Amino acid sequence: MHDLVIRNANLVDGSGAPARPADIAVDGPVVSAIAAPGGDGVGAARREIDADGRLVAPGWVDIHTHYDGQATWDPELSPSSWHGVTTVVMGNCGVGFAPVRPEATDFLIELMEGVEDIPGTALHEGIEWRWETFGEYLDALDDMPRVVDVAAQVPHAAVRAYVLGERAHEDATDEEIAEMAEVVREGLRAGAIGLSTSRTVLHRSVHGLVPGTRAPAEELLRLGGLLAEGPARVFEVVTDQPELPEERAWMVELARRGATRVTYGLAQVPWNRTGYRDALADAEQLARAGVDVRPQVSCRPTGMLFGLQSSLHPFIAHPTYRALARLPLAERVARLRDAEVRARLLAEEPDVASPIAVMLMSRFDQMFRLDDPPEYEPDPATSVAAVAARTGRLPAEVALDWMLDSEGEALLFAPLASYVDGNLDAILEMMRHPRSVLGLSDGGAHCGLICDASMPTYLLTHWVKGRTRGERLGLEEAVALQTSRTAEAFGFTDRGRIEPGKRADLNVIDLDGLTLHAPEMAWDLPAGGRRLVQRADGYDYTVVGGEVTFESGQPTGARPGRLVRR
Ligand SMILES: [Zn+2]
Repeated sequence: MHDLVIRNANLVDGSGAPARPADIAVDGPVVSAIAAPGGDGVGAARREIDADGRLVAPGWVDIHTHYDGQATWDPELSPSSWHGVTTVVMGNCGVGFAPVRPEATDFLIELMEGVEDIPGTALHEGIEWRWETFGEYLDALDDMPRVVDVAAQVPHAAVRAYVLGERAHEDATDEEIAEMAEVVREGLRAGAIGLSTSRTVLHRSVHGLVPGTRAPAEELLRLGGLLAEGPARVFEVVTDQPELPEERAWMVELARRGATRVTYGLAQVPWNRTGYRDALADAEQLARAGVDVRPQVSCRPTGMLFGLQSSLHPFIAHPTYRALARLPLAERVARLRDAEVRARLLAEEPDVASPIAVMLMSRFDQMFRLDDPPEYEPDPATSVAAVAARTGRLPAEVALDWMLDSEGEALLFAPLASYVDGNLDAILEMMRHPRSVLGLSDGGAHCGLICDASMPTYLLTHWVKGRTRGERLGLEEAVALQTSRTAEAFGFTDRGRIEPGKRADLNVIDLDGLTLHAPEMAWDLPAGGRRLVQRADGYDYTVVGGEVTFESGQPTGARPGRLVRR
């Protein structure tokens, strides 16, 4: 008698193999048998799920999230868990909450607030600092049952802050690097799944760049070199310019020396629209020489969501708007509909010194309405600028009108990268490349501006079912990208495929009915903190370690998720 049998499934097992009809038996936390439906099959079970007409796929493995704080207070880890994600990797981009000295917790909160736009008040209220070392942090995670499995990387910035204190942004001496190495080693021995760092000038907090952004190659090689001792082997990097010779050099050297896998974020950028091809070709070339550098790519453009409740929108720095900014939404909407206020607002320029900020807020040819369901591959002819030109209005006026829709809760989608050609063809190319890996959802982060934790759902709704502006992905191909491929990238050998002996992390999906809804603002973080969330319909069941965690989109209360140590 099995614990659970899922019958009559259309099984897509994550390997990329063709879909096949199957009954799947689960015992304890693992898949115990798979057989063709009918006949003797896999035998009886205490609980049966009829998956007739349903897709059964492995639980999604999301390797790029920032739930480091949320995972210590929220057992549900939404929104990722609402989208069939069963394993998340945290500690990306060099930021996290361990190791930490008791007097330096504020610094790490401010860093996370600045870099990842997670409300500091929520982090202050939510996190109980029951750790100092990385190992103690892992133990604290381990103590808490939750809906999904979590794994954490040692964040370089926290290590720097731990060892260098107030000098975290400065160069380290040899002795200090040696001390950092001991701290990293402690984390790796305790079960960290990798190590991460930030090399981007776009990630900033009130203290400036993320500590380590300018760290010399020697430091990165010394710390990253510890991965050669195993068992964790992954070094994650967020960088603006992976193609810079000096950046490429240390990443390649690290991968070469330490039998380490280096993964860095790759996108199609406006200033080098085919640069991603060179990066992919380079990764392929390196792989032939046994050097494992893996560009991490996303399945849709990382896009900012502009709205009256967001962290950023085209009017946020206009004096007239600033004077209204603290009014409740309904009042703000009423004022912004007032003819006189509008005229004043539309005549103004943003009062902000940074040309980058002005540029980001006024790219009207890169702003689109985001309806329900949302379109993340919009036709360029539907942009704010295009509609303004067609209707003889100012782009700013069109943007304002759209943001005032739905009583001021409407959102505009403003892609940042990988939409340079006005479509997602570059993304398709990046996703399909044998050396790339799917990531960059940033689950749990950028709460006031980005909501990409839903990317795994989008992979099916858009790339398998919905895309009209170009080629689609095959179902088996798409499923493999978010399961076996992501799992393998981080060395998870026990998940990512549905096979006897593997963990029973599964999704039972109504593929025809699978629908991604528009993101919306919620105020459900600790201290009433704000975050964008996004729902989906069509996940009939999600199973983690053999237990049903979600049924028809509702949590069952089961919390089989645990910390995955390396
Ligand atoms: Zn990140």
